[in-house]
Amino acid sequence: MTAPIIQIRDVSKSYDLSDAAPPALADFSLEVEAGESLAVLGRSGSGKSTLLNLIAGLDRPSRGTVVVGGVAVHELSEAGLAGFRRERIGMVFQFFNLLDDLSVEDNVLLPAQLAGMHRDEARKRATELLARLGVARHARTFPGLLSGGERQRVAVARALMNRPPLLLADEPTGALDSASAADVRELLTSLNAEGQTIVLVTHDTALAESCATRTIELLDGRLHRDVRNAPVAVAR
Ligand code: ADP
Ligand code: MG
Repeated sequence: MTAPIIQIRDVSKSYDLSDAAPPALADFSLEVEAGESLAVLGRSGSGKSTLLNLIAGLDRPSRGTVVVGGVAVHELSEAGLAGFRRERIGMVFQFFNLLDDLSVEDNVLLPAQLAGMHRDEARKRATELLARLGVARHARTFPGLLSGGERQRVAVARALMNRPPLLLADEPTGALDSASAADVRELLTSLNAEGQTIVLVTHDTALAESCATRTIELLDGRLHRDVRNAPVAVAR
């Protein structure tokens, strides 16, 4: 058996160094296997984004270890973290985080340029991804002119550009109308069916139910529930 793609051991994360506030994550351990689609549920403030940011190397644990694809993320330098994120992680956010003064195509090309992918290869891949995600006709459009659902498709294309082993999504349907949300649900489900490992933070129980193979629930920075193939209903 291969090692889990994510191994989090005994992690605590405090933003407040005086320890006046309770930690955002406390004594937290989790393993995720390649091919899983993990939904992370929990009330606002329960530590979901903190968890995602630690996996992505956007933040560091106060204690404990975070190993992703065999890389000890908690030990990387800033430059090491940048390379790790570029090569191993695709990220999708609630508000898309697209650059509004770049075309859709240029947004999708950006991660490849940063990674030094050859220009022709990058263009070919961007064209394929935009087609596959159903937004090819908007390649030369600017993101601000697209619907929320279309923007999120572009954001997913950008996240997948460098073929990351791990796709992370923080409330990807949080800013979408219900039709667009259904669209993004379908997209994430089919990506996982093709083997993409996904960790997805969401309030959207429909999203967890339709596209997660496993659901965890955080409560006050701790692992409260861990359920395979039977997502839980969670209080909002
Ligand atoms: P969730 O995503 O589940 O809403 P977060 O991980 O964002 O929860 O936050 C968990 C806790 O950590 C909250 O109490 C929040 O206020 C605190 N927190 C999150 N980010 C920061 C930060 N950058 N600085 C200080 N406190 C933070
Ligand atoms: Mg959050």
